[in-house]
Amino acid sequence: QPGDFQQNRAGLLSDIRTAVRTEAFTDNYDIIPGKELGRGKFAVVRKCVEKSSGREYAAKFMRKRRKGQDCRLEIVHEIAVLELATASPRVINLHEVYEMASEMVLVLEFAAGGEIFNQCVAEGDEAFKEDDVKRLMRQILEGVSFLHKNSVVHLDLKPQNILLTSAAPLGNIKIVDFGLSRMVSSSQEIREIMGTPEYVAPEILNYEPITTATDMWSIGVLSYVMLTGISPFLGDDKQETFLNISQVNISYAEEELQRLDKSAVHFIKSLLVKEPEERATAEECLKHQWLQPKGVENNKAALEEEPAGECILEPVSPGNSGHEDEA
Ligand code: ADP
Ligand code: MG
Repeated sequence: QPGDFQQNRAGLLSDIRTAVRTEAFTDNYDIIPGKELGRGKFAVVRKCVEKSSGREYAAKFMRKRRKGQDCRLEIVHEIAVLELATASPRVINLHEVYEMASEMVLVLEFAAGGEIFNQCVAEGDEAFKEDDVKRLMRQILEGVSFLHKNSVVHLDLKPQNILLTSAAPLGNIKIVDFGLSRMVSSSQEIREIMGTPEYVAPEILNYEPITTATDMWSIGVLSYVMLTGISPFLGDDKQETFLNISQVNISYAEEELQRLDKSAVHFIKSLLVKEPEERATAEECLKHQWLQPKGVENNKAALEEEPAGECILEPVSPGNSGHEDEA
């Protein structure tokens, strides 16, 4: 209504199907003491055990009031996006939701391997191998493609928000943290300054409309970081970082990149393009040469060698079943 205080920002979902529990969280869960899994500006994530099942979960405790503003709607949106993404194995599962006077608790599937951030900045044997990055990047793209097909943009894709089911052996990825995510299906244009400086796309800095391509820029930065351990646009301060991004001031001469498959740099370059319309989409990335399974060319060659018409799976015509041969 005109004149109403507009709490609901563009692109937020407001319907959830999860029943919000109001009993005490600690009636049903034991919080593992000392084990803080993570902490953001308005959230603390703790490991906990469900009393009834003995299963481990990650509980994200979120303050409803932030900077004097009621943020319940943002939390509800985060829940709604997690519900929408239950069909994707690349997005963390939501188990339950609790609501208290000043907090809400999102009980999430526990990702035991932690953030990929640790391996991104690690050296030597601890660091990702190119084949690891290929496999994990394929999974990240599967998740992002699912989100984009459902008109969700994540807007905060970075190593701290990509978790692993296990660290050693290297497990599978789970995308978390939909706190900045938005729906882009609405006709309303979304322009907001948000995200993390190093991973933010040029259009965000220029206050231009946000689209699914905004996430693809971050995927480009993420790929670069996963392969090299270097944050490509990071400057001495925020101003310099933003300048580097808006000028697409990036070096592909790093020694770490020279060692890789040539198609790896081509992959990154297809994403770190200033014009959002010219960036590769998640689906295009999944088809990129760099991410094709090894030996696919050999397999293809082998298939082509197979003479046409020598198909083993010839349809069996009625009255000519295998049983007659036995007789
Ligand atoms: P914020 O909005 O504060 O960034 P996140 O959802 O990103 O909150 O959670 C903060 C941190 O907590 C993550 O970066 C990660 O290290 C940890 N974390 C979040 N969810 C899980 C989970 N399901 N399993 C394990 N660790 C998690
Ligand atoms: Mg986060």
